Amino acid sequence: MIGAILGDIIGSTYEWNNVKHENFDLFPIGSRFTDDTVLSVAVADKILNSQNAKINDRSAYAMWFKQYYKRYPHAGFGQMFSSWANSKTIQIQRSFGNGAAMRISVIGFAFSSIKEIKREVNASCFYTHHNLEAIRGAQAIAISIFLAKKQLGKEEIKKFIQKVFKYHLPPLDDIRNGYVFDSRTSYSVPPAIEAFLESDSYETAIRKAISIGGDSDTIACMTGGIAQAYYQHIPKEIYHKGNYLLDIDLRKIVKHFNEKYHVEY
Ligand SMILES: [Mg+2]
Repeated sequence: MIGAILGDIIGSTYEWNNVKHENFDLFPIGSRFTDDTVLSVAVADKILNSQNAKINDRSAYAMWFKQYYKRYPHAGFGQMFSSWANSKTIQIQRSFGNGAAMRISVIGFAFSSIKEIKREVNASCFYTHHNLEAIRGAQAIAISIFLAKKQLGKEEIKKFIQKVFKYHLPPLDDIRNGYVFDSRTSYSVPPAIEAFLESDSYETAIRKAISIGGDSDTIACMTGGIAQAYYQHIPKEIYHKGNYLLDIDLRKIVKHFNEKYHVEY
């Protein structure tokens, strides 16, 4: 998950100031963690700490999301999610946005079968993204992480994702020029996976993800989770600079999660 969080932080200033190349400053002034990080940590916290909550997983996710929203209301949440999180009851919302896919890297790291991953992703989507497109995008990212963690080759991961999710994965060079901001799941998940497929390290994966433009923090967050799982090595300097921008509470959950699930980075 730290790979996803670092992608979010690195992309945070480029979301509103797209760069269409790979040669940019990784941590310019103003870099910060955003909603992608907050909700990724919420998912990790739910997985680590909901055993005694005596509620089903769907409701647990909804509760954890609302709690984290209240703690970090200015992290950059979208309007639709904010109004859901602010409402006094837990309602079903049918968003097709990439908010479900941006937060689920931890599920790919924590669970050990595709069946369990799908079940957990579906529970995480039930209240906020009750929508097939959003659920499938979240599954695609979590399963890519799971396959990368198992050290499958890139060709195998690509074939699996194309076959199961019917995603076209065109080369980034073919889409970059016309790519604009759109947080729709089916528009941002495939390029995030493709950025990983074209990379040769964690850092090049992040640089490629941001070079597409569009919803940069979220695309880099999704790419970053897969790249962490695959390369199992994040350059120390990137790790320290990004980790420094988290607060103590977020850092504590990340540490606990990495220790419990023996996550390499
Ligand atoms: Mg964000």
